Amino acid sequence: MPIGKKDVVLAGNTIAAMGDDFNLASSNLPVTVIDGSGYYLTPGFVDSLVHFIGGGGEGGFATRTPEMQLTDATLGGVTTAIGVLGTDATTRTLTNLLAKAHALESEGISTYCHTGSYEIPCRTLTGNITDDLILIDKFIGVGEIAISDHRSSQPTTDEIRKVAAAARVGGILAGKSGVVSVHMGAGERILQPLYQAVAGTELKLKQFYPTHMNRNRRVFEAALEFATKGGVIDFTTSTTEFDLKHGEVAAAAALAEALAFGITPMQLTLSSDGNASLPIYNDDGELLGLQVGSVQSLYQSARDAVLTHKVALSDAICSITAAPAAILGLKQKGRLGQNLDADLVLLRRDDLAVDTVIAKGKLLVQQSKALVKGTFER
Ligand code: ZN
Repeated sequence: MPIGKKDVVLAGNTIAAMGDDFNLASSNLPVTVIDGSGYYLTPGFVDSLVHFIGGGGEGGFATRTPEMQLTDATLGGVTTAIGVLGTDATTRTLTNLLAKAHALESEGISTYCHTGSYEIPCRTLTGNITDDLILIDKFIGVGEIAISDHRSSQPTTDEIRKVAAAARVGGILAGKSGVVSVHMGAGERILQPLYQAVAGTELKLKQFYPTHMNRNRRVFEAALEFATKGGVIDFTTSTTEFDLKHGEVAAAAALAEALAFGITPMQLTLSSDGNASLPIYNDDGELLGLQVGSVQSLYQSARDAVLTHKVALSDAICSITAAPAAILGLKQKGRLGQNLDADLVLLRRDDLAVDTVIAKGKLLVQQSKALVKGTFER
C-alpha cells in the first residue's frame, strides 16, 4: 500500500530506518543521498519463475535457450529471482541451477531455487524432496511440476500428493514455504489434477502455485475459479505475437480482469518465465523460429497494466513484490520497512520507467543504466 513521502535510510544491506525529515546529509556520517523527488519508491521486484540456466530444447539441441545474465534482471528492477528447471531435466541439472543461483547472488541480486522438475518422480539433489528443502538453503519449494501438458510425465493423483506432502514437511522443518510450483499446460484437464490431489487429504490448495494461468481463455477462467476457492495464481509475462494472436490473455490484461473480478491482490502474481523458449509458428503450425523469455517482461507487463488497463499502481506493484514474496515465504523481501532487505526501485513518475535499482544495499542501476554488470557481460 502507498505510504506517502518518506525518507529511507539504508545501512549495509538493510533498511535501517524509514520516517520523516531525517537530516543525515548534514551529519558527519559518510552518507550518499539520492533525491527521490520525481520518483515513486517501490520494493525491488520479485520474479517467482526464471529459467536461470536456460530451458526449452523442444526443437532439438540447437533450441536450448541460453543462461540469463545479471542485467537481464536488474535493468527490469528485479532484485530477487527464483530459478527452476523446465522441460529438460536431463541436460539441465539442479547442481548447475544452484551454481548459477550462487553466481547471480554474488553478482548482486538475491536468488532462490525450487528443487524438483517437470517430471514426477522429481529430480532432487539428495534423493528426497524433504531433505533437499531442509538441507539446502537456496531451495524454498519444488517445481515447476507439469500438469495437463503433453510434455508432463502424466503424473497420477497419488504422485502429486506425495510431492506436495514431501514439500510441506520439508518446508515446515526448514521454515520455508514448501510451495509446489505447477506448470499449467494447455490440456483439457486444466486444474483438475490439483483438485483431485487435495480431495480427501489434509493438503491445501494454497500450497500449489500454478503458473502460465493466462495461457488461454479457458485456463484463465479456471484460474479465477481456483482463486475464488482460495488458491493463488500466476500469470506469465514473456510472450510472442503468435501466442497473443492465438488466444493467450496478455498478463497485464489478465491481472486487470482478475482484480476487477474481485480476486484480492495478494492472490495474484506475475512472473517472467525468463529464458524459457518461446517457439514461433506460422498459421500452418510450422516452427519459424524461437524467441527467449525475458525477465524484463515482468515489469513491462506490470507497467502496461497501469498505463493501458488502468490497474492501480499499488496493485500492479503488489503482483511483483509483496504477493510473490508472501507466497514464497520470503519475509525479508517484497516490502519496504525497517530491518527488511535494502532492495529498492525508483520509478520515474512521468513515464513509470525503472530509473534506479538498489539490491542488498548496492546501487546496481541508475538513470536506467547498469552500473554493475555480470562477470561475462560487456
Ligand atoms: Zn512452465
